[in-house]
Amino acid sequence: MADIVSDGKSGKVVIKNIGLLLSGNIDHPILDADTIVVHDGFIQSIGKFSELDTSNAKTVIDVHQTCVAPGLIDSHVHPVFGDWTPRQNQLGWIESTMHGGITTMISAGEVHLPGRPKDIVGVKALAITAQRSFDNFRPNGVKVLAGAPIIEKGMVESDFKELSEAGVKLLGEVGLGSVKAGYEAREMVLWARKYGIQSTIHTGGPSIPGSGLIDKDVILEADADVIGHINGGHTSLPEKDVCELCEKSSRAIEIVHNGNEKVAIAAAQAALQLKCLHRVILGTDGPAGSGVQPLGILRLIAFISSMASIPAELVFCFATGNTATIRQLNVGFVEVGRSADLVFMDRAQHTSGKTLLESIQLGDIPGVGMVMIDGIVRCGRSRNTPPATQVPEVLTH
Ligand SMILES: [Zn+2]
Repeated sequence: MADIVSDGKSGKVVIKNIGLLLSGNIDHPILDADTIVVHDGFIQSIGKFSELDTSNAKTVIDVHQTCVAPGLIDSHVHPVFGDWTPRQNQLGWIESTMHGGITTMISAGEVHLPGRPKDIVGVKALAITAQRSFDNFRPNGVKVLAGAPIIEKGMVESDFKELSEAGVKLLGEVGLGSVKAGYEAREMVLWARKYGIQSTIHTGGPSIPGSGLIDKDVILEADADVIGHINGGHTSLPEKDVCELCEKSSRAIEIVHNGNEKVAIAAAQAALQLKCLHRVILGTDGPAGSGVQPLGILRLIAFISSMASIPAELVFCFATGNTATIRQLNVGFVEVGRSADLVFMDRAQHTSGKTLLESIQLGDIPGVGMVMIDGIVRCGRSRNTPPATQVPEVLTH
């Protein structure tokens, strides 16, 4: 195992002998290629080994016929500062989550900050500070997109303009602050959109004491870009309301690990029937009352694939390309020009599935054998997943 470099450029990296290459593209989820060439953190070419220029590589990785997929994106996390969560007083949760294949996380609000400010100046200051902080700090390379203000009553259009100009690109969950009525939320969501800030709305019952119910009608009226934890976080709306949201809204359908599992399956099946699987994205909604879930996205992929009977290669797209497209990120696809953020997996040892995809469709999670971010190997065999049957090998470095 080569040294793990934490910064600097990757140089030329050749990833060869790939057995299964998942693309992240839900219209074409499996690529007919066995080699990826990376240059300075970006995918330069994809194809057959014999047809690509693989000479003079700084790093060569033999994948030993296992699977390479885009790094997983957790669309819904609640970071605070650093690699620490006050919610469960836990250190190192982001780095641990990287061992579950996550290479990018998106904040749905830094809501667990002790003494979180709720006055408008404080709300804006916190968002800008969180955005800057995680822009400068990447635990083991993980990209944490943070600085997601929780909107409060009294905010005006110029607040959103100011936030945007300061680099804030996300709203935290609408509904966690004092703005809970549909008409009020809608006005602020439109201001946010006008200035290039993406919005997510809380869906369902209160998550913790002090938060409130956001029902179907508020969600439809507010029309945020992402229907956050459509299966509740934890308490879900009635299943028929969730199915109605899938049908009546055209926004992203976000299913989370820390939600109602029965309704998660209902939402996935509604999307399947409505032929809008490209709208489905996945998150953990952690850290939260349920703790930190380093394997949350992998567990959700296996859960949805097995229980909603959706092929695993499509469900991987929920957590990769779909999220990247909806969130407008240059990650999430195995595609020329994208960031070389990749997860290397194989079937877990002693799963009854004969292949990686079959094992996931049977409900088992895969073993992670390596994680790469920006072309740099960040870990070898995961310390958190069940052991992969075969792991990649770094031949030169
Ligand atoms: Zn929520």
